[in-house]
Amino acid sequence: MNTSERRPVTVITGGSGFLGSHLTEKMLGLGHKVVVLDNLVTGNLDNIAHLRSRTDFEFIHHDVSQYIDVTGPVDFIFHFASPASPIDYLELPIQTLKVGALGTHRALGLARAKGAKFLLASTSECYGDPLEHPQKETYWGNVNPIGPRGVYDEAKRFAEAMTMAYHRYHKLDTKIVRIFNTYGPRMRPFDGRVVPAFICQALKNEPMTVFGDGKQTRSFCYCSDLLEGIVRLMMSDFHEPVNIGNPSEMTVLDFAVKIRELCGSKSEIIHKPLPVDDPKIRQPDITRAKEILGWKPVMNLDEGLKLTIAYFRSLITSGKL
Ligand code: UDP
Repeated sequence: MNTSERRPVTVITGGSGFLGSHLTEKMLGLGHKVVVLDNLVTGNLDNIAHLRSRTDFEFIHHDVSQYIDVTGPVDFIFHFASPASPIDYLELPIQTLKVGALGTHRALGLARAKGAKFLLASTSECYGDPLEHPQKETYWGNVNPIGPRGVYDEAKRFAEAMTMAYHRYHKLDTKIVRIFNTYGPRMRPFDGRVVPAFICQALKNEPMTVFGDGKQTRSFCYCSDLLEGIVRLMMSDFHEPVNIGNPSEMTVLDFAVKIRELCGSKSEIIHKPLPVDDPKIRQPDITRAKEILGWKPVMNLDEGLKLTIAYFRSLITSGKL
């Protein structure tokens, strides 16, 4: 049976995490059956609780660094499983390496067995602490392989190499997205990333912890923008990496001030030591995404932050935070 006679089937590894759960909703909205594989190490069943009773949705509790068994046809595989915040990969260094390396191998193996299209969720961390600015996909990066962040950076770089090998050797239809800082509802309140950290601190009028002098820069993309780019990439015929992110760059200190203002908070801003190998600058060059996918972000930062703040406020109101 081909996909014109039945509903397309999408597998999403890490589908109960922040981005994975939004992607799950998006693919269901496009009329796909969605199978989520997640070991729940950093994923959260609350993110997909509202989908569990649907007949076009299936959740399989599984660690994708082990052999993956999915019955029936599969048309698309989005490989999103991985710890994704610096404190997660400091706490889970071996799992981070395993899911990036072994998990990617398993997910590619499943794609090959099923003849499915495959998309790897890679990362701007492939550029490390970049010496080129903004970062184009042609930049090879400046990564410390033995530093504490190296477990994530090198796992994703290996995952990209493995994906290209499957593309070249097995002729698999693969795509690679390099995801830059993304934010939105369902980020984990205590995952240590700057967006949940600052918003939770501001909403509770607690000190906001700026690491270092706060002059390091990041560029923040709202989750719905990112996923629109990712789905366009999956449906394209392009095989080399594509940056998806929002190029509007700001310092972490300015970001803290903005969040404090949007939360109507009285928090003071305090400084804590800068984590090892924290990139000093980061901004995606999205020329390739514009040209190949006709994509650019549309969500304004203040609007996206207001939606995200409302989510964290609701967690506080419902006693979950
Ligand atoms: N950061 C910060 N305070 C926090 C958490 C993070 O100043 O409480 C900084 C961090 O040092 C980095 C930036 O915010 O420069 C973004 O950090 P995040 O962990 O969100 O992601 P990264 O872009 O470093 O992967």
